[in-house]
Amino acid sequence: MSKPASYWRLRPFVYRLEGSRCVKCGHFHPLVRKVCRRCGSKNLERDRLPATGILRHFTVVSQAQQGMEKNTPFIVAWVEMDDGSKVVAQMTDCEPEDLKPAMKVETVVRKIKVDGESRLIFYGIKFRPSA
Ligand SMILES: [Zn+2]
Repeated sequence: MSKPASYWRLRPFVYRLEGSRCVKCGHFHPLVRKVCRRCGSKNLERDRLPATGILRHFTVVSQAQQGMEKNTPFIVAWVEMDDGSKVVAQMTDCEPEDLKPAMKVETVVRKIKVDGESRLIFYGIKFRPSA
């Protein structure tokens, strides 16, 4: 049962891009942390990632883990957010041929997967081309 636990811990991040940012070095953590993983500082504050960024890389996934196979193929994007943080998430509302390197993208909250046993529906952040 470690998967649901880690999912709930990440919930503020997957719904609102909330986490903690190191005041000393600026590194963003997608969880509420007491110590910075980059510089070891204990001076962290709650912060959010910006909602927009730049598409750096993407790949089309045709085989997925259980619960996500109905969504295949889907696009996984590596995005550099406006504050320099890097986030990996699915693309939505577009086809691979719509995507160009360095294009502007924005976050949306969408259904990610349905758990096979519990039928729980998991929501999370996806990216779409910015209007
Ligand atoms: Zn730091």
